[in-house]
Amino acid sequence: SRIPIAAGNWKMNKTVEEASEFAEALLDLSPNTSDIEVILCPPFVTLYPLSQKLAQKGIKLAAQNCYWEAKGAFTGEVSIPMLLAAHCQYVICGHSERRHIFGETSEDVGKKVTAAIHFGLKPILCVGETIEEREAGRTETIVFDHLSKGITNLSKEEALSLVVAYEPVWAIGTGKAATPQDAHQVISYIRQQLVKKFGDNTAKQIRILYGGSVTPDNVFDFMKDPDIDGSLVGGASLDPTKFYKIILESL
Ligand code: 13P
Repeated sequence: SRIPIAAGNWKMNKTVEEASEFAEALLDLSPNTSDIEVILCPPFVTLYPLSQKLAQKGIKLAAQNCYWEAKGAFTGEVSIPMLLAAHCQYVICGHSERRHIFGETSEDVGKKVTAAIHFGLKPILCVGETIEEREAGRTETIVFDHLSKGITNLSKEEALSLVVAYEPVWAIGTGKAATPQDAHQVISYIRQQLVKKFGDNTAKQIRILYGGSVTPDNVFDFMKDPDIDGSLVGGASLDPTKFYKIILESL
């Protein structure tokens, strides 16, 4: 059975000092990290400063983005070996804000996912449709594009370190979470596609998360669905008490 995940994507929030205050407050609450993977995704500059404190309590770190080359003349980018050296274990690839604000293509995202796995970082591949796409009946087409191009180069064995996050764009930061039924439908579709590509045995080991306006009050509605393996939380992960409650409700 798959180990659940509670991941907090801070996006472009918190200075090093604010992040450290958050970490102290969360650690004081002493979240259970033996039956769940708790992952924080702070901005790049905060990863290393947070790493020691969090590692002691088994809380893991994810970057919010990466570049696929190991080093060189790529001004402004951060490589996967650098993230590993900063004690990251995961990296978010293809978040909708990267796709829609910064123009990342599904091909770019696929290169990041492949490179992450090759260097030993676990990708959290985000997929999801906009409201226009949903209303036009194109949800599965879009999710298929994001997913298939994201995982195009992976072998079965490599796929075991993949995590997928279904984040419908219309649910992100809107306070309007998907219904558990909508999330279930798309997440089942994602699992079917994983079965087609990697086979039953591999696909059933890959975790699939839901993200989009997750709160302490609604997270259990998603977690009680055996097909949903965890959450990728934005706004509610900025507050240590709320994030702690989300961890508790996810167990
Ligand atoms: P919110 O939880 O703020 O809707 O953000 C979701 C998200 O984009 C997580 O990656």
